[in-house]
Amino acid sequence: MFEYHCKKILIANRSEIALRIQQTCKSLGIKTVAIYAPEDAQASYVYQADEAYALSLQGFQAYLNQEEVLAIACQARADAIHPGYGFLSESFSFAQKVEEAGILWIGPTADTMLLTGDKAQARALMNKIKVPINLGREFKPVAFDLDRAKECAQELGYPIIIKDSLGGGGKAMRRVERDVDFGAAWHAVLSEGKRLGFSGNIIVEKYLVDARHVEVQIAGDGERFIHLYERECSVQRRHQKIIEEAPCRFVAQDVLNSMYDAAVSIARAVRYRGIGTVEFLVTDTGRFYFLEVNARLQVEHSVTELTTGVDLVALQIAIATTDRLPLSQRNITRTGHAIECRVYAEDPSKNFLPSVGVIDFLKVPRGPFVRVDHDLCAGREITPFFDAMIAKISVWGLDRNTALANMRAALSDFVLSGCITNRILLSSILVNKDFVLGRISTDWLANGDVLQALCVNQVDHGSSAIELEEEVVVAAILQQALELRAHAQTAARETPGQRSAWRRSQWK
Ligand code: ADP
Repeated sequence: MFEYHCKKILIANRSEIALRIQQTCKSLGIKTVAIYAPEDAQASYVYQADEAYALSLQGFQAYLNQEEVLAIACQARADAIHPGYGFLSESFSFAQKVEEAGILWIGPTADTMLLTGDKAQARALMNKIKVPINLGREFKPVAFDLDRAKECAQELGYPIIIKDSLGGGGKAMRRVERDVDFGAAWHAVLSEGKRLGFSGNIIVEKYLVDARHVEVQIAGDGERFIHLYERECSVQRRHQKIIEEAPCRFVAQDVLNSMYDAAVSIARAVRYRGIGTVEFLVTDTGRFYFLEVNARLQVEHSVTELTTGVDLVALQIAIATTDRLPLSQRNITRTGHAIECRVYAEDPSKNFLPSVGVIDFLKVPRGPFVRVDHDLCAGREITPFFDAMIAKISVWGLDRNTALANMRAALSDFVLSGCITNRILLSSILVNKDFVLGRISTDWLANGDVLQALCVNQVDHGSSAIELEEEVVVAAILQQALELRAHAQTAARETPGQRSAWRRSQWK
């Protein structure tokens, strides 16, 4: 167990990640403080905390109210604040206020967050320290820069990608294929960035077609820096990850070694304190390009935990409270293979339209190598007010094939009725030949034909290994049918108004 100095932590987050952080705090004997919006009043993380405080605003805005969150931390006499991911986790101004209030911020310093939070500044740093970056330039988000940006796109050659330099979560970015579409995409990025409160400068970058997203987990205490290997996150929809694995079996080890070196050199350059992730895109020729640094815990941290045995939340708490990295590079070894699937309340067959409803039945997979992070139960309402990710299923296996088999079983054991989820899509991906053989890229799911084939559960019969998995798909379809029947029974008891709302949320 790592050394730490802390008695009480306020978790400035909700749902599964709040529960995840509580788990580590409990194992360390640290008391936890939960905060909750009215919509979350019945959530388990609220009940499982040692103390819980209601927030005054509604929905996600409640968790972004810096003054109120800080006031609660002071009132509860918390020694530290853990931001989880999303919400305030990448707000350098909040980290600064927390530090000024004499409370420990469980994350990198505000200065590091300021630097890494801006993709344009981060690109400039990479240039300086000779980490490869993709071709591209930065522009002011004003009309007179639009023409210069367009010229830049022509020079780079299409496709290109336009991004808000302060953007995140796959938002405020557009891939552009043709010159005629540049202006509309530019304005779309500007307005989305404004709506979501990013509004940084605008980056125009060469779009790397069919690249893989591979990221390296780093940790440091400002003096010493290590990596905890890589995660592959190429299965994405709308530039957002849905399946992640560790290790990445489809990039040569010498390329991965260079990526570890690059990631650690970035940590050294910014005297990184805490844990973080350096994201890269890797082309099929094995060239890699820096994408961004995420100065926080990642959603997909579970696959690193399962393969290295390191509790990343405990590591964060140890570094923040002792200013010392309790591990050296030679302590980090990894075993086997881990996969995470993100369960979203959304309908993949309808362009990933978010789905809402009240959960009327829930069965969560169990097993010696299965971990499910969630804050769900029957009766809980899935509302449109928060991110649509409602659970994360992670599995471990001695090798990739075993991990794939464990994940297929886990997915077929996950039953949720009351709203649509992407579970069938995940199951279909897990038996897809291209996925099994690693012939994927960040563009893979964006291909309408691939997505349609996956949504209707078409299985490639070309390989016997895949044929074996057909049973899994059939089981999954049967389970979906059972779920729909459960819906139908519920709907029969409902009023016509309720029923049409139910129909709107069905898989079509
Ligand atoms: P965010 O901060 O919103 O997560 P990133 O810059 O990390 O944005 O990129 C998210 C995803 O967008 C990447 O994993 C990749 O799929 C896609 N992407 C971003 N930049 C490029 C690029 N230059 N070429 C190809 N894909 C890109």
